[in-house]
Amino acid sequence: MLPTFEPAVLPDDAHALREEVRSFLRGEIAAGHWVPRANSWTIFDEGFSRRCGEHGYIGMTWPKQYGGRALSSMHRFVVIEEMLAHGAPVGAHWIADRQSGGQILQFGTEEMRLSILPRICAGTCYFGIGMSEPDVGSDLASVKTRGERTNRGWRINGTKVWTSGAHRANYLIALVRTEPKTENRHAGLTQFLIDLKRPGLKISPIENLAKERDFCEVVFEDYEALDDEVLGGAGQGWKLVTHELAQERSGPERFLSDFNLLVELVRKLQGSGSAEKDIGRMVARLFALREMSISVAGMLARGISPDLQAALVKDHGMQFERDLPEEARLLAPMEPSVGTSDPYEQQLARTLLFAPSFSLRGGTREVLRGIITRHMGLR
Ligand SMILES: Cc1cc2nc3c(=O)[nH]c(=O)nc-3n(C[C@H](O)[C@H](O)[C@H](O)COP(=O)(O)OP(=O)(O)OC[C@H]3O[C@@H](n4cnc5c(N)ncnc54)[C@H](O)[C@@H]3O)c2cc1C
Repeated sequence: MLPTFEPAVLPDDAHALREEVRSFLRGEIAAGHWVPRANSWTIFDEGFSRRCGEHGYIGMTWPKQYGGRALSSMHRFVVIEEMLAHGAPVGAHWIADRQSGGQILQFGTEEMRLSILPRICAGTCYFGIGMSEPDVGSDLASVKTRGERTNRGWRINGTKVWTSGAHRANYLIALVRTEPKTENRHAGLTQFLIDLKRPGLKISPIENLAKERDFCEVVFEDYEALDDEVLGGAGQGWKLVTHELAQERSGPERFLSDFNLLVELVRKLQGSGSAEKDIGRMVARLFALREMSISVAGMLARGISPDLQAALVKDHGMQFERDLPEEARLLAPMEPSVGTSDPYEQQLARTLLFAPSFSLRGGTREVLRGIITRHMGLR
């Protein structure tokens, strides 16, 4: 089956929403609350998240009784596109807004929904993703963290790794093996809501290339989970985790991480008259990706699962994000430095330090291409 990207049109009121978000973000920058940065969806800023909550920019598609605004994925697309394009520090609420809140809405208990979703919408409750483990990233069905039945619920032991934001988050949604592995390797897995403030957890931040500590190792040592902290029922973990991954892979952050570098590159080259064609090629790629991504948002709004299209956007988006700093280095060569006051040098340095992770986080290039070929019936 050949992938199709049906053109999707943003709703009329999305334009007014875009203007409103732009004005909010420009006000934030003018007030000196933060400076626009590349890869801003990994930057944790609780104050900014709270202000986003006050403006209703988190959990926008969720029902009103849980703090949401019952708007469409297209409205959400507009808001996050503006946030990313302005390099806003959305990291604190990012995972909760993008995927964990949706998991709770669809698969959690009513009590969970009522106690957690309004706090996510207010920008005060943050989540991590508990999938990867040492030696288990791409092949998630092989997770070794195990949950054993107790009188009160479950006892969990094992290790998760590369868990973004776990040292600052309130909760984690963890994939755990609750039945021994059988021939059906996708059976016997369960997703749990993990309270990161509860005993039985050791959370150790890991330093990345940029010397920032935004992901962690999380060790479970006899962590006690209650029965009503199981999402979607014991043994349903595979179905739930694949649903979660589709949300994780489908957004514009997969090609807008280094948008601010492009902006600074254009500023740097302004008037030089030397790079119009190269810049034009990059902007054309960006616009094609944007149209594809809007199409994915349109599919989500119509309740269609965009697995194939999301994988294609992430694969092409990741390649664009990897190419951009290399092109920039050729067009405006300079020694990148994070500490410099020159915004171009700063964005270039930050992007170069994060670029190696672009083809790993959220699923590697090879794994995505496996999904693409399978959906196209090529294997
Ligand atoms: C910045 C960053 C943040 C992250 N945050 C999180 C997080 O919050 N939560 C979380 O759970 N994880 C997180 N991860 C982990 C990430 O999801 C994994 O690194 C990724 O899924 C790859 O897993 P791995 O590192 O175990 O590599 P492996 O799976 O060991 O892969 C190693 C190499 O083998 C290739 N490969 C593997 N299987 C196949 C196959 N079947 N066919 C062909 N090639 C294959 C891969 O493409 C890759 O090139 C993060 C990673 C990064 C870089």
